Amino acid sequence: MFEQECAAFVDAGHAVAVSSCTAAIELALRALELPPRAKVATSTMTFCGAVHAIVHAGLEPVLVDIEPDSLMPSAVTTRRAVRDAGGVDAMVVLHFGGFPALVEELADAAGLPSHRVIEDAAHALGTWVGDRPVGTLSAATCFSFYATKNLPIGEGGLITTNDPKLADKVRMTRLHGMSRDAWKRYLSSSNWRYVVESAGLKANMTDLQAAIGRGQLLHLTAWQQRRTELARRYDDGLAGVDGLRTPPWPRGGRHAWHLYVVRVEPAFGMDRDTFIEELAHRAVDCSVHFIPVHQQPYFRRLLGPDGVQDFPAADAMFEQIVSLPLYPSLTDDEADRVCEAIRELATGAATMPIPRTDSWRSVP
Ligand SMILES: *Cc1c(COP(=O)(O)O)cnc(C)c1O
Repeated sequence: MFEQECAAFVDAGHAVAVSSCTAAIELALRALELPPRAKVATSTMTFCGAVHAIVHAGLEPVLVDIEPDSLMPSAVTTRRAVRDAGGVDAMVVLHFGGFPALVEELADAAGLPSHRVIEDAAHALGTWVGDRPVGTLSAATCFSFYATKNLPIGEGGLITTNDPKLADKVRMTRLHGMSRDAWKRYLSSSNWRYVVESAGLKANMTDLQAAIGRGQLLHLTAWQQRRTELARRYDDGLAGVDGLRTPPWPRGGRHAWHLYVVRVEPAFGMDRDTFIEELAHRAVDCSVHFIPVHQQPYFRRLLGPDGVQDFPAADAMFEQIVSLPLYPSLTDDEADRVCEAIRELATGAATMPIPRTDSWRSVP
């Protein structure tokens, strides 16, 4: 039921619930049946799990630099990275923070047909590209229901697709490569025989998670409206602050506002780390999404000197980005206090630190 309801929400033919978005990406990549060590392009400004999924699928990540405004790869940075890698076999497109990525344009830039592209939609439940919800724009779209995401279950993930064969493959691979899942096996009309078709994973969603997800789904539309309202409130409250750049709105489609990422530019007169510390003194907890993947020691070793050459935009933007608190239960007053605290920092006004209240923390 949860799967059908999710499929309906994003207007997809098939939805397969799994244990996490990381597992979803790995399963989707495995379903492409690429040769071992085939190259998969993805943003360096992403969560490490999204790149681990590529590695665990037996494939080789090719990291792509970003375009500073959207904090995502553009057609230009994609074309350059793909050229430097001597071509790629597939690509994982990320809708950073819920901002709609132009999937088709990026596939063209990478020289890939859409059936070699999958989407990391961990931030993008509620994102629309043009007049279509994210969910069927590529071979497979991978969502996350982790505790911090737009539809929190605690843990969980989902793959949506319009390709019935791909849906069947991931349905089998999510549970030991067995051709029938356990629940069906124990129906009285069924028997005890099971068939193992491939080296599957143990990456199924549990019924309990799905039950929670069904309840959460009832709120999703209202939560998305609230996120959009809060983004507008932050825009208004932070307008005109020197050296503080608010995030862009898409020209078409819909932003899911999973994150509200501001940039603390040199003109603000304070570096990003101090900005976060000073806000913490004022009981505003922020976060940073993300530390670029190529800066992490594991990926530096994995990619070698050739693979971690030059990511000037990601390196520069990483020094400036801050994710402000954004979740549906954040009140107008709380959002206004965040803006006031930032305005205080901008004007250098000395204020008494207010006692911390843990009730309006940003999620990590
Ligand atoms: C959270 C996140 C993931 C992983 O989601 P899980 O469900 O926790 O595995 C993948 N990619 C991005 C961009 C994320 O933010």
